[in-house]
Amino acid sequence: MTSKEKSPTRGNNGIEPRVYTRKEHTVSRNDIDYDALKIMYRLIRHGFRAYLVGGGVRDLLLDKKPKDFDIATDATPRKIKNLFRNCRIIGRRFKLAHIFFKDNKIIEVSTFRDASDPVDIEDDSEKTSPPRDNNYGTEQTDACRRDLTINGLFYDLSTFSIIDYVGGMDDLKNKLIRIIGDPRERFIEDPVRMIRAVRHAARSGFTLEDTCESAIKTHHKLILEASQVRVYEEIKKDLCSGSSLKILRLLSSTSILQHLLPELEVNNGELLQEGSFFSRVFENIDVTSAEEEVPITAILASISLFMTAYPDSTVPLHEQYEDKEDIIDHLTSCFVKLAVPRKEKERIEELLSLWHRVLTTPVDKLKKSNLERRRRVDELAYLLRWFNLDNIYDEQLEIALAATEKRKNQARRKGSKSNSGGNASGNKGRNRRGRKRPGQNSGNS
Ligand code: ATP
Ligand code: MG
Repeated sequence: MTSKEKSPTRGNNGIEPRVYTRKEHTVSRNDIDYDALKIMYRLIRHGFRAYLVGGGVRDLLLDKKPKDFDIATDATPRKIKNLFRNCRIIGRRFKLAHIFFKDNKIIEVSTFRDASDPVDIEDDSEKTSPPRDNNYGTEQTDACRRDLTINGLFYDLSTFSIIDYVGGMDDLKNKLIRIIGDPRERFIEDPVRMIRAVRHAARSGFTLEDTCESAIKTHHKLILEASQVRVYEEIKKDLCSGSSLKILRLLSSTSILQHLLPELEVNNGELLQEGSFFSRVFENIDVTSAEEEVPITAILASISLFMTAYPDSTVPLHEQYEDKEDIIDHLTSCFVKLAVPRKEKERIEELLSLWHRVLTTPVDKLKKSNLERRRRVDELAYLLRWFNLDNIYDEQLEIALAATEKRKNQARRKGSKSNSGGNASGNKGRNRRGRKRPGQNSGNS
């Protein structure tokens, strides 16, 4: 063992967790991803502890389908790597194991973390600070460094029990979003937790526990100190969550939204009110995102259309722009406080230019225009669908949907010709070093 890889300490610093036996909870092995089970079984067979952690346990207890299954263990990354051939160690400041499976599936296995570990394995300071020794923690420190009590539960496959160091089971039962530890301190340590608390409250219909809510309302400005890249990634997740409208409203009433999307709070927040043009469009967006993965470009473009002086449903939105230049001009004044990456802004610009062109072209001409050859036509179909409130865009939507269908068929034909069967690298959504690309869940972040 090198000096850089000390074993995590066994034991739990004297704090006894509440253990819920199989009869006292609803998590069943059958609902857990088969590969995650295999990983945990192998670790346990080799004498390590291995728990299902975080959102996976929370969602199973809420009877929802988890987005990902993350594992925490007392095995160090090096030992994990020795056990799994399909494993890659990632992270410079804090090392995690990624275990790769078919169909681009990656399961994140993290060694119990200490309270002093960096919040984000790829945070800004990573580039300037030298790699540090990993001092791993105990299962208790690992539970306590997590954000919300409902995210701090462990499912133990060796006993089928839930281990609860943080009171998460009670909070789940009482539908409460509670920060682990002192909310003010935890928000100072990582202001992004304010957004996460609001997300889970809005998404699950839970109540923000009093001290958590008042800490957010008092310290909302802390969000300005968080890494802008992380804030953008979290907001992106919210916008694509299928509960975006509820989240935006709660971000607004807890005073956070003014630091991120102040443009949505103009005129005493009329955009976010029930029945508004914006709300109707975002209800549509949420319906779609609950069913499928939706391109963030189309959602951001939708938001930008409301960042005008005339968010009025009686004037067709496209008529507020003369031409492409006008749209580009408009976009330069959008998202003043949110760090939307330049590349994303370019995609929004392309999409809105196409949208404007389509809506200002007579339908007959549009039918013959080979729309399928245009970039962003897939996103255009989403945009038209969401804004088609009184079926005003029926004709254009039909043409756009036919074009996306044609594109899909062309892509399928190309795919079968090249016989590649998808992403040959098997690294969809990952950069070259195997790290999750921004916007993907960081299971054990
Ligand atoms: P989702 O369903 O949106 O993926 P999640 O809770 O799984 O929800 P992730 O971002 O995947 O969210 O994070 C996995 C786990 O890592 C969380 O459940 C939580 O325990 C921990 N975590 C994530 N972000 C933080 C943070 N900023 N501070 C402390 N713990 C965090
Ligand atoms: Mg997750």
